Order: sequence, then C-alpha cells, then structure tokens
Amino acid sequence: MKVVLEGLTKQFPPRGGKGEGVTAVKNFSFEIPDGKLVALLGPSGCGKSTMLNMICGLEKPTSGKIFFGEDDVTNVSPELRGVGMVFQNYALYPHMSVYNNIIFPLGNLKGAEKMTKEAMKERAERVAKLVQIDRLMDRKPGELSGGQQQRVAIARALVKTPRLLLMDEPLSNLDARLRLQTREEIRRIQKETGVTTVFVTHDQEEAMSISDTIVVMKDGELHQSGKPQEVYDDPVNLFVAKFLGTPAINVFDGRAEKGRLMIGDDAVLDIPGVKDGPVKAGIRPEGFIYDPQGPFKCELDRVEVMGRDISIVSVNPACEAPVVRSIIDSDERPEEGIKTVRFRLRPGKVHVFDAETGERIRPDKQ
Ligand code: ATP
Repeated sequence: MKVVLEGLTKQFPPRGGKGEGVTAVKNFSFEIPDGKLVALLGPSGCGKSTMLNMICGLEKPTSGKIFFGEDDVTNVSPELRGVGMVFQNYALYPHMSVYNNIIFPLGNLKGAEKMTKEAMKERAERVAKLVQIDRLMDRKPGELSGGQQQRVAIARALVKTPRLLLMDEPLSNLDARLRLQTREEIRRIQKETGVTTVFVTHDQEEAMSISDTIVVMKDGELHQSGKPQEVYDDPVNLFVAKFLGTPAINVFDGRAEKGRLMIGDDAVLDIPGVKDGPVKAGIRPEGFIYDPQGPFKCELDRVEVMGRDISIVSVNPACEAPVVRSIIDSDERPEEGIKTVRFRLRPGKVHVFDAETGERIRPDKQ
C-alpha cells in the first residue's frame, strides 16, 4: 500500500500557553511507494518521531492530510489504521513469554476479526519463523539478547499483517555488531513480506544501507529525497552533502573566479558559468587524486592505511574542519618524509554551494 503525505504540518502549543510553540513538521509532502522501505533521516529534533506519530495516528496534524492508498486516514484512530510499530526500547511485556508477547495484539481483535486460539498459534509461529525466534517461544524477554528482543518486537508488529510497518530507531539499543546483523535481517524480512515500511534513524550509514529511498529532514522540513546513492552523489544543499557520507565531505571556503574554483591561491577545478564571488566547496574524500603535479596543495599531517585504500590526513587553512580527509588507492601513497601533498580533483565529487544560503550551484556542462 502506498502512503501519501500531503502538506503535513504539526505545531505543538507553548507550555502553559506562554511564549512560542514548536513547529515540529512544516508543510511536508511525500509519497511512500507501495512495498518499499523508506528511511526518514535527520538530526535529533528534526521532527522524525512526530512524522511517524502522525502516520500511525498517535498525533493529529495541525494541517495537511494522510492517505493510505486512496483512503484519507487523517482522522482515523490509530487502532483502525492497520499499522505495526517497532520502537527503540522494544516495549515488550517482561512478565509474558515470547509467544504471549507476539500474540498480544491478536487478543484485542473484535467482531469479524476475532481469531481462534489455533489461528493465533499458527500466525505467531509463522512470524516467529520469519524473524527466526521460533525456538525461543517459551522464554521471557529478560532471557533474550537485545537483538532477539528486537526480533520479538518485529514479530509482534507483523502478527496482525499490517498494511504499514513503522520503525522508530529500532537498532539504537544494540551494539555495533548486532546493529549490522539486525539491519540486514530487517531488510530481508521487509523484502519477504513486501510490507511498506518507514524506518526512522539519525544514522546516515544505516539509512543508506537499508532503504530503497531516503528522505533527509531538517527543522521539520524535507530537504531531499531519492535513492541513497543518488542523494549522496547529487546533494541539493550543503546540509545534505554534510549529513551523508563517512568520512564526511570536506568543506572549504573558496571563490569562483573567471570560471575557476579557487581555494586559497590554488585554482583547483574549472567551474564554468559560476558567478564570481565567495562559495563553499564540498569535496568528497574519494574526490582527491594524489598527484605531485596537481593544483591543490595541503600540508601533510599523516597517512592512515585502511587495507586496500589509504587515507591522507592533511591540513589546509581554507578547510572548515581541522583536517582534510582524502581516500586514495594504496598504490599511490606519497613517498616518506614529504611535507606538502598535492591533489587533482574528480569533478563529479566536488560540489559548489552558495556561501550564504548553502544551496547547490551547478556549473555549466563542459
Ligand atoms: P530524536 O531523533 O531526538 O528523537 P526527532 O527528529 O524524532 O528527534 P521529534 O521528537 O519529532 O524529533 O521532535 C521535533 C521537535 O518537536 C523538537 O523540537 C521537540 O522538542 C518538539 N516536540 C516533540 N514532541 C513535542 C510535544 N509533545 N510538545 C512540544 N514539543 C514537542
């Protein structure tokens, strides 16, 4: 089922009626395609949880509409929306067995939807198998690892065969290894069930690796959406460019001068058609090519070996950060003892932004 968010705004009133309220989400429009996994990505406080709460019905939008398929559900209560939720803290009942936790949502069904004990058992066994906890049915949550508890929470969210699955930072409480494993599991389960899923995270790597589409938010507004690689390769503004990628993009105070990008005194790249004046230049770590004859000069700080690649850590006074991080092929490492490193740049990995607004400036095609 596709989900359409149409001009959603959520304002929270000021505490005690005094001062300014908070606009958590501003005029947010987006279509979540049927059967896809969409990651809502943004820094803390950007409105991700508020968006999820509006989609599941726990919060009512101040304005705007939500459609599930063709149905306007803006005023439909949460229990009638057919949404499964998974939270960061699992929210399992500690005194109940895994089996009873999973079937809990089925016990609340009424009328024509009411299920027999056998039907519930069959359904619980099916989802438990899907998330691979079918051997743990008699245990209590306290007797499970964090990863296993999160699987129980996912099974419980899936047991009612939801039309939509919402996950709010589901991996945050897991250690690094389990986080990786569980995110692959979530992807597998989502693909197997084909359930339309919204996954909220502030971790760009998690969002990039798990989703069909990422939606980057800041201050309640949608900044950019698209396939993860496309958004990484073609950011619309400096915020998106900085938010995606590890190591992060290197940002420099530069100038456009007669169609050339100047960083300090170095003309580092042709940028035809860009008006003369100050700009911000973003260079991805993989955008540097080590070249002793190259135009871009930095002072070498150190070389870090990372297997196939090496990272040259250097210093340039125009860089916003204390060091410039470049990743190059290990065959091309600088010779021992040098103090200055020079680079050429890969044009597709260099982005130019308005120095004031941070909006992307696109040079003319050459
Ligand atoms: P995090 O990643 O830290 O969970 P988030 O992106 O999910 O953050 P929200 O929890 O949606 O952000 O909050 C968005 C903004 O709305 C924040 O400024 C927050 O303080 C505010 N906010 C959220 N809920 C309420 C509320 N019930 N009353 C007032 N303000 C709220």
